[in-house]
Amino acid sequence: MLTSPETWTQGDIAALLRTRDPDEIEEIRAAAEQVLLRECGDAVHLRGLVESSNVCKCDCDYCGIRKSRRDVERYTLEEDDILACAHLIAELGYGSMVIQSGERSDQKFIDLTARAVARIKRETRSGDLPDGLGITLCVGQQSRDVYQRLFDAGAHRYLLRIETTNPDLFAKIHPKEQTLASRMECLEVLREVGFQVGTGVMIGLPGQTVEDLAADVMFYKTQDVDMFGMGPYIPAPDTPLVAQDCPPAEDRLRLGFLMIAATRLLCRDVNIASTTALQTLHPHARETGLRFGANVLMPQTTPPERRRSYQLYAGKSNLDENAATFRTELEARLKAIGRRIEVNKWGDSRHAVRRMQ
Ligand code: SAM
Repeated sequence: MLTSPETWTQGDIAALLRTRDPDEIEEIRAAAEQVLLRECGDAVHLRGLVESSNVCKCDCDYCGIRKSRRDVERYTLEEDDILACAHLIAELGYGSMVIQSGERSDQKFIDLTARAVARIKRETRSGDLPDGLGITLCVGQQSRDVYQRLFDAGAHRYLLRIETTNPDLFAKIHPKEQTLASRMECLEVLREVGFQVGTGVMIGLPGQTVEDLAADVMFYKTQDVDMFGMGPYIPAPDTPLVAQDCPPAEDRLRLGFLMIAATRLLCRDVNIASTTALQTLHPHARETGLRFGANVLMPQTTPPERRRSYQLYAGKSNLDENAATFRTELEARLKAIGRRIEVNKWGDSRHAVRRMQ
């Protein structure tokens, strides 16, 4: 029997995440779905995902596009290519897009991103989208000035995953120049600049415990975050972490769903994405994630010829996703689970809207 989330301790969340009994998992799922429908409604918000560059200055031990991987063909989309993706996303009625890239602080890339954002805002305006597409950025740790510039250009949401709130684990999977403290600071700065802020963690990292994940969920609540993107860790070839054991795929999948449910039950009116990493572990997992309380999907809209170069991990599932057919197929699949696509809306989280009022 689920206790009231308001009184949850880290131990209570850890107990929830340890659940393996199918009836108990169904009880948690149904409770999370009920909170979602009550607090956010039945809409699923779509954000077309554009992976604008796989060039990265970081060497994270888990990541398939880390700087040290020599066999990755590096690319950066031209401004016009990003614009073409944006027009497609607007035509498909998604209402919003995410621009994601490896971490780069070179002036050329910041200029390119700021110019592309400003043009997207101008050039995707229409009767359906009077203020143009909503833009979420996911381009890593940057200075306050850069965040301000990207915000002023017209982006209004920013996703920066914390990866894990356990400082020892964070230190183990990142080079020493990357710190948990500076990532936390970036989340603060993003909020001060005016962005709606999203974060998240990887689930099932080597050496990560259920208590760590419970602490991550507690952190979400205390930080008053607007949106979440979290998903299972998936080993990437030719990375330092690939040699270390992680929980079996079925455990990472179950934990992925339970993390979504725990976050929904505790944080209530936030947006939560059902991620590609989930789907990589099971073909229907993105829809299952929606049934556990998620309400955002990020369909692949990177130009098809570039997708294979943006492989964060082995077997990334969305390489062949066809943007045009995806929406039609999704509509039917969502109907079957009592949900609907929201068309031509930015789909900000109710949490962010309330916070900013
Ligand atoms: N550079 C930006 C940043 O650091 O926020 C965005 C790109 S980064 C590749 C996006 C996310 O991919 C990371 O925050 C991480 O959680 C996730 N990721 C990278 N490697 C992964 C792996 N092997 N398994 C699962 N997720 C992974």
